[in-house]
Amino acid sequence: MSDPARESEVAIDGLARTLAGPETDLADLAAESVIVCDLDGIVQYWNPASEALYGWPAMGMIGSRLGAIAQQRSRHDEQWRLLLRDGSWNGQARRRALSGGEVVSSVRRIVRRLPSGEMRDVVEFGQRLDLQVGSERPADRAEKLPASAAFWEFDVTRVRPRVIDLAKRTGQPGADVFAGDPEKAREFLSAILIVGVNERTLRLAGDYSGRSGLIGQAVSDFWPRESEVDIAELIVSVVGAWPHHTAQTRKIASPLLEDCSVTVWSRDMPGQAGKVFVAVNGEVSGDNSFLYLRASEDRYRKLIQHLPVAVLQVDARRAGEAFGELRAKGITDFAAYLEAHPELVDFANDAVKVTEVNQEAVTLFAASTAADLAGPVRFLFASSPGTDRRVMMARFHGKRNYSEIAKIRTLDGRLRDVQLSVTYPAPPERLDVTIICIQDITERLRTERQLRQLQAENTHAARISMLGELTSSIAHEVNQPLAAIVTNAETSLRWLSREEPNIDKVRLLTTRIAGSARRASDIVGRIRGMASKHEPEHVALDLNEIIDEAILFIRYDIEARSIDLSVAYGCELPRIVGDRVQLQQVIINLLVNSIQAMKQDQTMLQRIEITTSVGTDECVVLAIRDSGPGIEGPDIERIFDSFFTTKDAGMGIGLAICRSIVVSHGGSISARNHPGGGAEFRVVLPTGSVDR
Ligand code: ADP
Repeated sequence: MSDPARESEVAIDGLARTLAGPETDLADLAAESVIVCDLDGIVQYWNPASEALYGWPAMGMIGSRLGAIAQQRSRHDEQWRLLLRDGSWNGQARRRALSGGEVVSSVRRIVRRLPSGEMRDVVEFGQRLDLQVGSERPADRAEKLPASAAFWEFDVTRVRPRVIDLAKRTGQPGADVFAGDPEKAREFLSAILIVGVNERTLRLAGDYSGRSGLIGQAVSDFWPRESEVDIAELIVSVVGAWPHHTAQTRKIASPLLEDCSVTVWSRDMPGQAGKVFVAVNGEVSGDNSFLYLRASEDRYRKLIQHLPVAVLQVDARRAGEAFGELRAKGITDFAAYLEAHPELVDFANDAVKVTEVNQEAVTLFAASTAADLAGPVRFLFASSPGTDRRVMMARFHGKRNYSEIAKIRTLDGRLRDVQLSVTYPAPPERLDVTIICIQDITERLRTERQLRQLQAENTHAARISMLGELTSSIAHEVNQPLAAIVTNAETSLRWLSREEPNIDKVRLLTTRIAGSARRASDIVGRIRGMASKHEPEHVALDLNEIIDEAILFIRYDIEARSIDLSVAYGCELPRIVGDRVQLQQVIINLLVNSIQAMKQDQTMLQRIEITTSVGTDECVVLAIRDSGPGIEGPDIERIFDSFFTTKDAGMGIGLAICRSIVVSHGGSISARNHPGGGAEFRVVLPTGSVDR
């Protein structure tokens, strides 16, 4: 039979073995109180269940002596001595809760050892004693746990001399020092700085700009007016009593919390005289889901912390205010306004501030801590001209999201390509939680660039090989004007060598020679264009014109084989955008394939039909049909695969290259056997303008 108590012990043992460093994440989720102390009893880790059980927040306990909250210090010390002697200790702990009451818990302490056998630290597991009996369901248990406190840590260094002075004079600092005068209390609190807060404090007192909005600020700016005198008096009393460890609790009036009490204490540790800790307990009025909310907030925070994308929370309220004013003034053409007022972009770069970042952001920017990235957003946009302005425009026009590829410079000076996405808050008033996600895409862009280059090289190699197949046609094209030049030149010489040279004839022939030379030079230019290696262009092109030029390369082959070439151009074809040479390559490839297919059966009628037309969805369509044998049934699936060929001397890369060119132009290519015989290839290309 399984024994639940035994099972939980085994689980706890497992936890104790793994508990260290990041594994404490696991203990964050445990229902038992889990506390890790060093051998002197100084708390190193204090899980949320411990906060709930004893009321003391982790921030206040870590670095303090565990014995400081023992009801009887001497008993605690004796138990600790036994623990270190025996390696483990089980028993009852009686502790002072933050609320002032006593918590009796059943605890189990284990000394953990280093591989060398040396003692390392102590892990304590604890449960509230009165909750251990019976068979309570976990849900009942959660309801009985007190909500953990809103917790503050104050730096009182500046007011300490004053308090000590007061203590000397009155003998009993704290009581009635401010004589109920809120002004005096406020003045006192303005010299005390907030140095730490927990999540609940952020929710209750934060101004949505995250921790950075509170840390380093004067207590007087955030403490509720209703209890300024109370908190000031409690601080005086605790600071005056230092190093004597006292925790002073008082019920206070609160605008947010029901049945509210505040506890102030200090640490009886050397060098800690300048710090006091404050915990505020109470239920948020009407908010009985606090624990669950807190749990989900924690989960959310952890999720963001561990996202593999840099996430920055930005407070854009001041820019939002400026936009509001512009709108009120009737400005609608924001682009023009920014053009005329670049100082607004400058203002936003300073006024909009990063308030929180996750770990990935710290890594991406090579920062040492999150604090390095807090402050004005200027550094985010410094290496990407215009990005700040575009982000502002999207916000002005009420967009929910904006994304672009940008560049950032890391704190150690490296330039990175990033996808920068901004999520504007909904509702728009909550501009303090604008989220910027940044993903490093430097490697991806580099790979894409390499791939594009490789593709271009393949395409070029295929083109050269195609030109090789066209040598006879090309030679004929070049030869024709050369032959005309020779004939005309010889005739000219004859006219010149007559007794009475016929200058008019010679002029005519020389004009023809010049024309033929130009034609030859044009042909050589075209071939060189085909053979040259160049970056793919994006220019507006007329498909019909491209076909005309492509035909020139194979005209001789077509004529020599008496192929009947019919060309039916669609009129007023919209322009396409692309690379002239690459598109010609596609057409020549398809025509050469047709010629080769028809070569196999010379008895058949040799015919190629080229048609162009306007397709649906802003496309133009090119169809090339031949009267050859068509494509063998099963092959039709494979003809666009690289190295698929049915020809003895074929390489099988022509159609694969055609497809990659067409796809890189945003189009598609397909083949079918025409019902009337022969193969038909269709190329569909999108229309557009260059600035698309
Ligand atoms: P290759 O011409 O070197 O074989 P391609 O990729 O250009 O390489 O063509 C692949 C295959 O597709 C050809 O071997 C042939 O079987 C088939 N094919 C291409 N065009 C036609 C066509 N017009 N008629 C019949 N089959 C064709």
